Amino acid sequence: MIDVLNPADGTLVGQVEHHSEAQVRAAIDRTCAAFPAWSRTLARERSALLRAWFDLVSADKTAFAELMCRENGKCMSEAFGEIDYGLGFVEWYAEEAKRVYGDTIPTHAKDAAVIVTKEPVGPVASITPWNFPFMMITRKVATALAAGCTILLKPAEETPLTAYKLLEYARRAGIPEGVFEMVTGDPVQIGKLITDDPRIRKISFTGSTAVGKLLAAQCAGTLKKMTMELGGNAPFIVFDDADLDEAAKALVSAKLRNSGQVCISPNRVYVQASIHDAFVQRVKALVEAIPVDQGLQDRFVVGPLINRAAIDKVGKLVDDSRERGAKAVLGGHAHAKGGLFYAPTILVDVADDMPIASTEIFGPVFPIYRFSTEAEVIARSNDSEYGLVAYAFTRDLGRSFRLSRNIEAGMVILNSGSVGTASVPFGGVKQSDYGREGSHHGIEEYVHVKYTLMAGLA
Ligand code: ADP
Repeated sequence: MIDVLNPADGTLVGQVEHHSEAQVRAAIDRTCAAFPAWSRTLARERSALLRAWFDLVSADKTAFAELMCRENGKCMSEAFGEIDYGLGFVEWYAEEAKRVYGDTIPTHAKDAAVIVTKEPVGPVASITPWNFPFMMITRKVATALAAGCTILLKPAEETPLTAYKLLEYARRAGIPEGVFEMVTGDPVQIGKLITDDPRIRKISFTGSTAVGKLLAAQCAGTLKKMTMELGGNAPFIVFDDADLDEAAKALVSAKLRNSGQVCISPNRVYVQASIHDAFVQRVKALVEAIPVDQGLQDRFVVGPLINRAAIDKVGKLVDDSRERGAKAVLGGHAHAKGGLFYAPTILVDVADDMPIASTEIFGPVFPIYRFSTEAEVIARSNDSEYGLVAYAFTRDLGRSFRLSRNIEAGMVILNSGSVGTASVPFGGVKQSDYGREGSHHGIEEYVHVKYTLMAGLA
């Protein structure tokens, strides 16, 4: 068995099975065996099953939220927010299942017709991380099932209990064995088994860039279709014409979500020199007012990091930045509560050549950089191997368009810190991502295009 521990206090939350190689192979077999029948169900039948799953989970949000709090450390308000976000995908794809349209193309021969249809790619396998234990599951499963694919999912071993609970509710909703399967165990072994199997036609992965690259290499042997949601290094740019109060609020809520353990978390905060001090003061006042605590309570709190490796990494990055000349105007150390709690930290005088500028921090740390001109800050924002999301606050319309056009990212968020909802295409460019999740674009990742020529009609 695998123990699942509460990161807030180290207590045992539950256990899940450590599946053997034979059990993983059997789950792959079931996923593949179920595909032919599932791919031929009517879109409205798949839609009805997704809707039934949505309804059952919706009726039990508190039980899910408490479990997420215990196994992940996030607070209740964030867990409820994630549930609504995650259920949004189930609802959206229950509808989108019915709208996977093909086309007919004007013919190139007088006796022929050209028909283009979209077909499910085949059985899919998916691997998900621990930071969104609910939404990561529903986003991948709902899209796959809507398209007519069957899916085998391996959740993160840190947070598998929410995933198994979602599976249990899916079964109660009538989603059959084989159509949605789950395994847990040794990630390396499971990753190898699913990528080596030629019957699995697609991998959808969210996690670190290193593991994403490894899986992409492993998929080369069987040329699987891939959706990869990997690392980020999001710039958050505040121009001197911005509403500073709104910008500070947006930054703090985007950064402290899940204690900073989010791929779209603002990772480099660029503030125009003339408003630097005024902006830092506002951010500091907001952050100071937020308590650090375990999450099972009504108020918003900054929770623990997921494990010891996470807190060590954040501590090292902050220490290193301070040794190189950055100053902590707040925090700068582990929190007095001990355990896996890190004090929310604001660093100023951070420089582009410090390791923190090119590392995904994954903790409650605000590194603040000064800039002078628009052209300079765009160039500095783009100076990254990642290109997931960029945030900017400005009231200038022309500048907004220039940012949208010139920032190298899959998502540009202007005058807001909020990115995700089921109806938009989530994803990045460069080494952040392949493919998109959410919106009508998301389902395209699970279908292939088939062209049929019907000649001899004359
Ligand atoms: P994180 O740092 O967010 O935990 P990882 O990329 O290590 O990111 O983990 C994301 C998911 O990938 C988890 O489900 C984890 O178990 C899985 N994973 C880690 N290493 C491998 C691997 N070698 N092959 C397949 N999956 C892996």
